[in-house]
Amino acid sequence: MVWLICHIRILAGRFYPYQEERVLILEQTIRSAVACRGIGLHSGAPVALRILPAAVGTGIIFRRTDLDGFEVEAISRNVARVSYATSLMKKGVLISTTEHLLSAFVGMGIDNAIVELDNLELPILDGSGRPFVELIRRAGLRQQRRARRYLRILRAIELREGNKFIALYPSDRYSVSYSINFSHPLIGQEAHELELTNGQYVSGIAPARTFGFVHEAEAMRQQGLIRGASSENVLILTREGLINPPLRFSDEFVRHKILDLIGDLALVGRQILGRVVADRAGHAMHTALVSRLLRDQSLWEETTVEEESKQSSLSSALPARPLLA
Ligand SMILES: [Zn+2]
Repeated sequence: MVWLICHIRILAGRFYPYQEERVLILEQTIRSAVACRGIGLHSGAPVALRILPAAVGTGIIFRRTDLDGFEVEAISRNVARVSYATSLMKKGVLISTTEHLLSAFVGMGIDNAIVELDNLELPILDGSGRPFVELIRRAGLRQQRRARRYLRILRAIELREGNKFIALYPSDRYSVSYSINFSHPLIGQEAHELELTNGQYVSGIAPARTFGFVHEAEAMRQQGLIRGASSENVLILTREGLINPPLRFSDEFVRHKILDLIGDLALVGRQILGRVVADRAGHAMHTALVSRLLRDQSLWEETTVEEESKQSSLSSALPARPLLA
């Protein structure tokens, strides 16, 4: 009977079998260092990547081991070139194509990490975020002793550029609604919606690969782009079809746009509580939204978040888990 009295509480006529407790969501890093190798999508350059655990409050920092360990923080202020990929630059030191790894960090709930690379561009791997998610899973997650600070959207922000649109609206959660429209038989109008807090990222977004059109390839090569592209790392579209099927999702293209958007919005430097709506946007509009947001402090507030711990005695014994996976 003592057990019953301790563990069952009657509240407003309902039974609560577990002790109720609300716990702050804490910052997370990885448990151990992990590494991989690959080539850059645009540079074609070979690169070795290593992800290391980092202390609370560090955020995500890129470190060029080929340039005496020069560090470039993954924050909006360091955004340099934004066209077919998002690149950071500080004092002339470039870190290219950051969006897929940063997206995986957000999706896996990683706040703090050092990312070492020995060249100027991150590896493209299979063109999706899945290899990075697997790498982070191999490293394991570690909760840290500081409440994660979120950026909560207070007022709507809308940016328009021709028929392109991107907006952020207040919400208690982080969700993304994206639509694209390409006159291509495999794409056409595609729309997809995702709430990051309900576990959809790892299965529904991370595997979606980047894509490109054969008829644009030559012009891009002339600009020094896609030197590392192949059927192993890009969905290659002809005017009528796809050179390297099968698709991982029938709407893989719009899902990849969401992957990119989450990676670009990571440059806010904190996890977001808000609803993003995007229509035919791209890296330039994603990063424009970030700088517009950070410029106007009346648009947001910093906050911490509590979540219900249904079984507090058990949860402390469980390993850290991806909050968004
Ligand atoms: Zn991408």
